Amino acid sequence: MLELNNIVREYRTGDTTIRALDGVSVKFRRNEFVSVLGPSGCGKTTTLNIIGGLDRYDEGDLIINGRSTKDYKERDWDTYRNHSVGFVFQSYNLIPHQTVLANVELALTLSGVGRAERRRRAKEALEKVGLGDQLHKKPGQMSGGQMQRVAIARALVNDPEILLADEPTGALDTETSIQVMEILKEISADRLIIMVTHNPELAEKYSSRIIRLLDGKITGDTAPYDGSDENEIKDDGKKTKKPTMSFGTALSLSANNLLTKKGRTLLTAFAGSIGIIGIALVLSISNGIQEYINRVQEDTLSSYPLSIQAQTVDMSAIMKNMSGNDDKEADHPLDKVYTNSIMTELTNTMIEQVKSNDLEKFMKFLNDENNGLGDAISTIQYTYDIPMNIYKADTSEGAVQVNPSVLFDKLYGNSTQMASLSMMSGSSMATMSNMSGLDRWSEMIDNEALLHSQYDVIAGKWPENFDEAVLVVSENNELTDYTLFSLDILDQGSLDGLMEASQNGEPFEIESRTFTYDELLALEYKLVLPTDYYRYNEDTGGWDDMREDEEYMKEIVDKAQKIKIVGILRPNPDAVSTAIGGAIGYTSGLVEYVINGVNDSEIVKQQLAEPGIDVFTGLEFPKEGEKNGDKEKKEYTMEDINAYIEKLPEEEKGKAKLGLMMMSEEQAIQMFSAAISAMSTDATYEENIEKLCVNSLEKPYTINIYAATFEAKDRINDAIEAYNERASAEGREADVINYTDFVGLIMSSVTTIINAISYVLIAFVSISLIVSSIMIGIITYISVLERTKEIGILRSIGASKKDISRVFNAETVIIGFSSGALGILVTVLMNIPINAIIKDLTDISDLSVLPPVAGAILVAISVVLTLIAGIIPSRMAARKDPVEALRSE
Ligand code: ADP
Ligand code: MG
Repeated sequence: MLELNNIVREYRTGDTTIRALDGVSVKFRRNEFVSVLGPSGCGKTTTLNIIGGLDRYDEGDLIINGRSTKDYKERDWDTYRNHSVGFVFQSYNLIPHQTVLANVELALTLSGVGRAERRRRAKEALEKVGLGDQLHKKPGQMSGGQMQRVAIARALVNDPEILLADEPTGALDTETSIQVMEILKEISADRLIIMVTHNPELAEKYSSRIIRLLDGKITGDTAPYDGSDENEIKDDGKKTKKPTMSFGTALSLSANNLLTKKGRTLLTAFAGSIGIIGIALVLSISNGIQEYINRVQEDTLSSYPLSIQAQTVDMSAIMKNMSGNDDKEADHPLDKVYTNSIMTELTNTMIEQVKSNDLEKFMKFLNDENNGLGDAISTIQYTYDIPMNIYKADTSEGAVQVNPSVLFDKLYGNSTQMASLSMMSGSSMATMSNMSGLDRWSEMIDNEALLHSQYDVIAGKWPENFDEAVLVVSENNELTDYTLFSLDILDQGSLDGLMEASQNGEPFEIESRTFTYDELLALEYKLVLPTDYYRYNEDTGGWDDMREDEEYMKEIVDKAQKIKIVGILRPNPDAVSTAIGGAIGYTSGLVEYVINGVNDSEIVKQQLAEPGIDVFTGLEFPKEGEKNGDKEKKEYTMEDINAYIEKLPEEEKGKAKLGLMMMSEEQAIQMFSAAISAMSTDATYEENIEKLCVNSLEKPYTINIYAATFEAKDRINDAIEAYNERASAEGREADVINYTDFVGLIMSSVTTIINAISYVLIAFVSISLIVSSIMIGIITYISVLERTKEIGILRSIGASKKDISRVFNAETVIIGFSSGALGILVTVLMNIPINAIIKDLTDISDLSVLPPVAGAILVAISVVLTLIAGIIPSRMAARKDPVEALRSE
């Protein structure tokens, strides 16, 4: 059944060639116990390895069941080893980290036998060699004889036709040797046993045939066989099932191996996890920072919109002009000190840069669905040049104005500073006080989601109707005294002595009070339209300004629209900045209400109906040429002066009359002519419309565009630029929009920094990835070196090259997974103190958070990377020569 035909095997080491087998020809019977004797180095092991399919012959042929093995493929040899051959070695070659049972089962696992069957047959084989009670011991816990018996059980479990034993008793004492030989003898009853031994007595006693080898040649054979007398079965060509190892087996094999080296495995997993920890930390922080930046962006953008005004000074041009001077190449030699005339240039630029914007057209563009800005804009606020005249609802002490605040007037008299400020800016008082931040009432943006993210409602609810407003307290539940006095929640009267006292250096105490939420939610105010201040005067036919008339004001306030405080808001501690500027926020609905109210008022209707008549005087507007300049030269009479005095408010009237009495006529004319000419007589229709605060909803005074993100802001800027280019191209220069992107000016460098940081982080991540891959590769390589012997054993019991690489892939998968999982765990734990420290240093909470998805992906990446890194070492393992592998220690 087995025939060696002139087998030659040579080993090449360096320049010398050793002929280990030099033309060995021998035939074996189906059942016999053959002993091979010979001195060390004569080629006994080589013969066995070639017979067992572990080693290849160089010349000649090995014929198995009548079939030549010359055309055997790798998998044919694997099948042959797994099904037809059992190996027993001198050094037992058991896998030390597997139990006795598992060691025996392994060969069956490779041939794809089911679990229960495997167990049964392995137990049976172990019982046969007398080890039925030692199934769960590890090989290291057994004696040499016992280990050899396990090895025999393993060799037999597949019921092979051939058992090859290479000096099976070489390491055993005489007594155990005899035990082993007895077992072999028993086995040889129904199969071929070829045993190499040094011990001629044992060979004589137990074997049926002795073959002697010397220098690679057969020198003696006690029972030669010519292959004729037996009823030999030829190979029927039907291949037995190719042995394969499932990935599960590979996993458990590697897991057991790793478990025997717990400490080292933990260390390697930790070493591998360092890369993952690095990446996870970078990810946590960059994720946290990204989220923080998004929050800052949204919050910042909610405080600093792109503001486009009807009248504007192009600040960026001015700033460019100023900073541009620094960059400019000197156009003179650097020999003396020269003048750099920034002041004149600045002034010129400022005058040149005052532009007016057609916001009516621009608003149409913004409201056009097809402008492509849909998601770039989080909200748009249209403001109008309209004062919010708010009074206390309670008029028992007369009409008390709370907005625009009169507190400063009360304290310091008519604030000249404020007036000059508003003149300088070129915008109206209403806008000015809004900008100055002194206004306690401000319009809320329409973006509810953003407001909700920035504020918590601590009492009441969000305003829904135009007549509802909210009170905003500080993060510490406080309102400033300025707010409290402005809103007359604290009595403005109690401030009366403040200025005087402070000028005299006396301390001035104001009571510090607390307020319940209910108290504040009970606040009610009245909204007086700017047109409500005027009353038609039957006598003059004009409308009189009644602001100084206390009775009238009281009546007006009582009749005015009521505004309720329906909620109290507090900024969310996480909000970076907040969208509501004042202490009281009202809805855009209130603005619409005022605009419509003004437009519906009698005085406005009258002025619109009769554009030639000044509604305030009932007289025609002065014609061209009668205006200011000319009037100063006009001679006034006492009649004019008396008429002027009559129109003055009561208080002034008395004073004026008193003054008049003490002056000569000449003096009086001199005194009053300037005042009279300053009086309304040089009014124009346009000025009256402005004075009456007539606005059209379609024509805002300012458009505040709140971008969703910084990128979105750039898109908006681009869109406006495109809008301007279109206008220019079509010759509509008046439609070009001029504005200053202040946030852009400030933030452009910040975006660059953020991008730079991101790139640095990405670089870090890449480096960590590479480092961790290399680490895993090295670890796997070390493991290959360590498990070389195991590779040999597995090959000898029929494992294919694929199976071997599978075992190492399983190991890398386990290490990769443990590294990843450990890395994530460590990162999550490290994030706790990191966040505490960051919170302590910067007051930003949760800056370092690893998103769960990222964690899972990192574990997967770790597994994939270790697999990739392990491919080369596992291929190396698979390619290892089984004979060499077995020889290694
Ligand atoms: P033994 O009869 O002691 O088992 P071997 O079959 O192991 O002898 O070796 C036969 C000869 O081949 C020896 O001279 C040995 O040095 C040589 N030999 C065996 N394996 C190798 C190898 N892998 N490389 C080089 N020489 C080898
Ligand atoms: Mg040998």
